Amino acid sequence: MSRYVGRFAPSPTGPLHAGSLVAALASWLDARAHGGAWLVRIEDVDTPRTVPGTDQTILNQLARCGLYPDAPPTWQSQRTDLYQSALTQLQAIGMVYPCACSRKDIADTWTALGAQRPRNSDLLYPGTCRNAAHVKSPIAWRVRTSLDHRSAQVDWLDRRLGPQSQDIETAVGDFVVQRADECFTYQLAVVVDDAEQGISHVVRGEDLADNTARQIWLQGCLNVPIPQYLHTPLVLGSNGEKLSKQNGATALDITHPLHTLNRAASVLGLAPCEGSVAEALLAWTQQWPFSKA
Ligand code: GLU
Repeated sequence: MSRYVGRFAPSPTGPLHAGSLVAALASWLDARAHGGAWLVRIEDVDTPRTVPGTDQTILNQLARCGLYPDAPPTWQSQRTDLYQSALTQLQAIGMVYPCACSRKDIADTWTALGAQRPRNSDLLYPGTCRNAAHVKSPIAWRVRTSLDHRSAQVDWLDRRLGPQSQDIETAVGDFVVQRADECFTYQLAVVVDDAEQGISHVVRGEDLADNTARQIWLQGCLNVPIPQYLHTPLVLGSNGEKLSKQNGATALDITHPLHTLNRAASVLGLAPCEGSVAEALLAWTQQWPFSKA
């Protein structure tokens, strides 16, 4: 196997909560169980959503739990040149096109087509600007999810969830890689960074599994390697939905790091440990069920 490089990639929109610590711990354990490196990347590409100071809070929380990266952390906000050159590459091969549709334009198109508005919050893009020459600013850039010679059907194997498949064109449609406000999107930044940092294994929460097909599609467009993916179980809030700030996720109390880590470990099916944080991390690395993948 080529060198294992894993990462934890929190968005600094709030401190770590019980759910994000599960992803952090799982990605750390997977890297350790494979004798690999573990990186931390602060995903502050969406600058309007970034909460100043949260990056340091997250790094301190990880350190309290004994989760130290093997290299200095990186910040997406300092890597805009990389995203711009990936966009230029996509423009050069005609895989992206400018789009002037607002969310309302997209919703109106669905209404005009007599189609039921999709229930999910991300509206399926109907392809309005694919072949349009209308140039009205501001514009976003969208990736084509169908081309005559390539199918937008992406099949991939998740190390925990098993075989997965998504037809991106019918699930989400052509998706945005640079928004009208000139922010590069998570989809583009994560693919560029994973490739540039040599990430071989992505371990993250199951709520992100749905993004994987889009990312594999972009990896194909940019001709970069596809990492292996493992999506970890979610921590559910009191309403049975994924833990989020809206349903009671509070910043982790790390007064007793081992107690906090034991709770995260139990979500991953690992046995509780007593002793020191270092001993617990070692025991869980030895128990880690995904070390063969
Ligand atoms: N920044 C994303 C989040 O915090 C995670 C991205 C990833 O792991 O691919 O939800």
